Amino acid sequence: MQRAEQTDPYIDVAVLGGGVIGISTALYLELRGYSTAIYTEKIPFRDEPAPRFATPYAAASIKPASVTMSEQRQALSISQDVFRLFADSGSMGIRQQAHFVVYERDRADPSYAEIVSGFRRLSEVGRHPKRPDARSVFGWQFEAYFAELPAYLSRCYALYESIGGHVFERSLTRDDCRNLPGEALVNCTGLGARDLFPDPRPWTVHVGHQVLADGVQLVRNDDGEPFSYNYTPDPDAVGDGTAGEVYAYPRMDTLVLGGSRIEVSPDDEWNGDVPGRSRSVGGVEVPSRIIDLNQELLETYAGVTLERGELTGRYGFRPVRDPDGQGVRLERVSLDGRPVVHNCGHGGAGVTLSWGSAAKACELVEEVLEPEPTSLSVPREFAVAERLADRIRCGRYS
Ligand SMILES: Cc1cc2nc3c(=O)[nH]c(=O)nc-3n(C[C@H](O)[C@H](O)[C@H](O)COP(=O)(O)OP(=O)(O)OC[C@H]3O[C@@H](n4cnc5c(N)ncnc54)[C@H](O)[C@@H]3O)c2cc1C
Repeated sequence: MQRAEQTDPYIDVAVLGGGVIGISTALYLELRGYSTAIYTEKIPFRDEPAPRFATPYAAASIKPASVTMSEQRQALSISQDVFRLFADSGSMGIRQQAHFVVYERDRADPSYAEIVSGFRRLSEVGRHPKRPDARSVFGWQFEAYFAELPAYLSRCYALYESIGGHVFERSLTRDDCRNLPGEALVNCTGLGARDLFPDPRPWTVHVGHQVLADGVQLVRNDDGEPFSYNYTPDPDAVGDGTAGEVYAYPRMDTLVLGGSRIEVSPDDEWNGDVPGRSRSVGGVEVPSRIIDLNQELLETYAGVTLERGELTGRYGFRPVRDPDGQGVRLERVSLDGRPVVHNCGHGGAGVTLSWGSAAKACELVEEVLEPEPTSLSVPREFAVAERLADRIRCGRYS
């Protein structure tokens, strides 16, 4: 069958979707030795964000949340390894910073404790964020990788195009998918996947509110380093109206504050109802605690006030697949005899698990299509890509 449209280049694999999962997967495949093209309706930070297009909303901490995934541990380890490489290179918009996870009720250590670096309980940490009225707090601190998302994704796209990857912006229908070029397709269309390919498993959406605080000084800890946190107050202490987690992540361009996870159906128009106390920020109703509790924590721990910040409220949808079953869709099916690898449904952890998922998707492609690695020629600024290609090609992530 002739699949290539006239304007399409010859490629081995067509990657559908250009969010964080699509660009990571396309890059991984290119570095493995496939020629690829991305077909996507939107590109993060080039096109306007919209709640169903999740990537521009990622905070973007690299720790699992709101996700089920088989082999999650391995996916997280691979992602950590790639983010470490990027952070060490200093060229990709990834850095490491102290991250606190704080609760006012005690919790067991998380499953990622052995994978992240510098993990220690708060009892071993000197100062940490704490609500002034909280009697005691529990939790942990570790050295988290953190993506300066606008910079990171624009570096990923620039690297991808510099090594020969193609990007086409177009909205696809089910029929379009049949006519795309390539020996295989990889579906990374997030919440859009359900419109393109039937999926027997259920999906749900976790709505997440954020407040972007522009013009606020960069939050720094006692050592003068940027830090971030997730903080969950005791509901009995703060009352139902303001109970729930909040987080703060400093980016170079803004301070990202957030903390809601409202479960809604992906098929219905969400009515915008916010449980508990809320307030309007720039016309968007957000849980009050995102501003009030964060303000309290930032002021007491880092002496930072939001008062002079320009605040913007918004919300995005975390695309959660099959939370009580298989989770993330990572499997190979067939469309008219052509392999289609699904890589979608990453909930609140698409950035966190991006490279591990890309490695698994590539493995599923490789089972049916041989790569043809050639020597890689990258601009000097992307020298880190040669090291990543070496790791991929020597089987470090298989
Ligand atoms: C408030 C909030 C905070 C978050 N914080 C974090 C965090 O700190 N850390 C973390 O790891 N994750 C976080 N996440 C989750 C993360 O954003 C998602 O898991 C991730 O972005 C999913 O990426 P994706 O590429 O699968 O989907 P998307 O980003 O939705 O991308 C899908 C792509 O497919 C394209 N597409 C869809 N349908 C079609 C079609 N028919 N034709 C052509 N193209 C199509 C879209 O244009 C888009 O490019 C957060 C999410 C939210 C909402």
